[in-house]
Formats: sequence, structure tokens, C-alpha cells
Amino acid sequence: MKCPKCEKEMKPKNYGDVEVDKCPECSGFFFDQGELETLMAGGADGVKEIEYTELSNKQDMMIGSCPRCGVDMEPYLGPGNLRIDRCTKCSGVFLDQGEFEELVSS
Ligand SMILES: [Zn+2]
Ligand SMILES: [Zn+2]
Repeated sequence: MKCPKCEKEMKPKNYGDVEVDKCPECSGFFFDQGELETLMAGGADGVKEIEYTELSNKQDMMIGSCPRCGVDMEPYLGPGNLRIDRCTKCSGVFLDQGEFEELVSS
């Protein structure tokens, strides 16, 4: 599976019980549906629901296509007002370098 930003082959990386895909070039992460929720819940306390707000202004945004299904991703605002690229088909999300660390450390 290729990074939506730089089209390098992404490498699987384990966080606890979740295997995510990380780009060796830009250090972006791709999460399948539910994986980010699982990681942010931080264990067996139950899954925290993540709210995504669709961004209406899509100008000046570079959005790639979903590495899983190839459809264009859409910009969303996720937790902590991070801009997250999200696939409307499979609900996978792409996070840029540092964004994932920011989410799980907060
Ligand atoms: Zn990349
Ligand atoms: Zn997809």
C-alpha cells in the first residue's frame, strides 16, 4: 500500500495490538476504520468515539487518494482540531508526521 502523499510503499508498524501503516519517507500514518479509536482509547476502557467534522473550504489543500481503495480522500477536522484526510469509502484516515503522536499523548 502506497503513501497518499509521496507514493512510497508504507511499512506496517505495531502499536500495542494494532498494526498501522507508516510511510518511511514522510512518516505519515494510515489507519483503517476503528484503529485510531482503539489507539486513542488506550486500552480496555472502551472505545472513545472520534468526532470528525467535514471541512467545507477545500481550497489550497493537497489531498491524496486512499491507499486502500484509491478514491480521493476528503479533509476533516478531527480531535484537537487536527486536519485529517479521511476516506469516505472505507473510513480510513491519514495523519501527517507528528499528528498521531500528538493525539495519543494528549
Ligand atoms: Zn509519505
Ligand atoms: Zn479508502
